[in-house]
Amino acid sequence: MKLFSSRILTQVLLITALFISQLAFAKKQNEKRDCPNFIIIFVDDMGYGDMSINGHPTIKTPNLDRMATEGQKWTNFYVAAPVCTPSRAGLMTGRLPIRSGMCSSKKRVLFPDSKGGLPEKEITIAKALKQKDYATACIGKWHLGHLPQYTPTSHGFDYFFGIPYSNDMDRIDGPDNVDIIRQPKIDYFNVPLMRNSEIIERPADQTTITKRYTEEAVKFIGENKDNPFFIYLAHSMPHVPLFRSKKFEGISLRGTYGDVIAEIDWSVGRVMEALKKNGIAENTLVVFTSDNGPWLIHNENGGSAGLLKGGKGGTYEGGMREPTVFWWPGTLKEGVVCDMATTMDLLPTISKLAGVQLPTDRVYDGYDIFPIMTGKGKSDRDVVFYYRDTEVFAVRKGAYKAHFFTQADSGRKDVTMYDPPLLYNLNVDPSEKYNIADQHPDIIVEIKKIKEEHEATVVPVENQLEKR
Ligand code: MG
Repeated sequence: MKLFSSRILTQVLLITALFISQLAFAKKQNEKRDCPNFIIIFVDDMGYGDMSINGHPTIKTPNLDRMATEGQKWTNFYVAAPVCTPSRAGLMTGRLPIRSGMCSSKKRVLFPDSKGGLPEKEITIAKALKQKDYATACIGKWHLGHLPQYTPTSHGFDYFFGIPYSNDMDRIDGPDNVDIIRQPKIDYFNVPLMRNSEIIERPADQTTITKRYTEEAVKFIGENKDNPFFIYLAHSMPHVPLFRSKKFEGISLRGTYGDVIAEIDWSVGRVMEALKKNGIAENTLVVFTSDNGPWLIHNENGGSAGLLKGGKGGTYEGGMREPTVFWWPGTLKEGVVCDMATTMDLLPTISKLAGVQLPTDRVYDGYDIFPIMTGKGKSDRDVVFYYRDTEVFAVRKGAYKAHFFTQADSGRKDVTMYDPPLLYNLNVDPSEKYNIADQHPDIIVEIKKIKEEHEATVVPVENQLEKR
């Protein structure tokens, strides 16, 4: 009898323990759902037309295409600026770069001798997520200041593996008569590769850099599969000089640029595979986009904006509308999204999803786009400002875009002012070919007012790109 009751007691204890552990597991799962993981894959200078799913005839991007068909392809997704540094500042802070002093008409980006960077008071996505104890990694190109007070680890990232600025900087003279961009060698660019605050390689071996960024990201995913994390995977390619690993040499009909995109696409596939393998794909939002349009002055070494006009540096669509894919199995409404959104919408959206409170002492230029992601609603965005450095060159309201100024994508000359502004209906005319200003004076009045009201919200701050 005694033996019998002790057996029952053991069984009761076992069942209770099992029940408690299941409760704890369910609680953990719920916590996980409350705090999804976020991965932003931010490539450098890839054009709107450079994904096969956006119609490129010879570049193959099977992983991006799969990500788009399983998730969402966004066709009206913008960056905050058409060049690297201000574009990255906009993404990281949810604010136009003019508000953080991260743009300038004199120096369009930060350089290795720059003294400025993203000010400490700015709240990056990583810093915001620290409120909820996210593990945070910046893997790839930073370009928001290389001095210690501006680096990723000073801006909310636990871990940094990458280069502090562009891969074409710190140039060393190549041999005479060698175009170092068209015939690049690693030694021509003395760019440091860093792990946290330490330089671990100089010059960075750029032939293996995409592969190594990917390995770092996959490792970080594995190490953090049981807790919420944020990875900012900012590939330094396809910014010139173009490099790719041996395995990808000569594989694309599109030439070296196509090889580079193929390796980036492989990287995307490895990230998706790691999420699936670790059982966290359904708890992770992955966003893929580019920091600005293709660098057209580099001819076949630059990408393609497809049917869009212009490229990197300019305020036509090709400079700021990006190849963009979202992936989050089980949460996103699959399909093509034509709603307008920008990289500045990511901070408010991510913060809301993670339950992070953002301070109310500053102006944000982003909106929550989760309702669009689930197909259950719209965002509050109806306007996009196209800044060239510190000036609003164009404004989009709904389908209509008005250009107040235009200028060649590169260089500082020949600003053309328009009064009335050029007006295009981007839904009908995405290539900005047919000026319809004379047909819509009312829309021009409305957009002018939006521009003036916006400009009144801009408060002068210290210029970080011109800081000496
Ligand atoms: Mg760029």
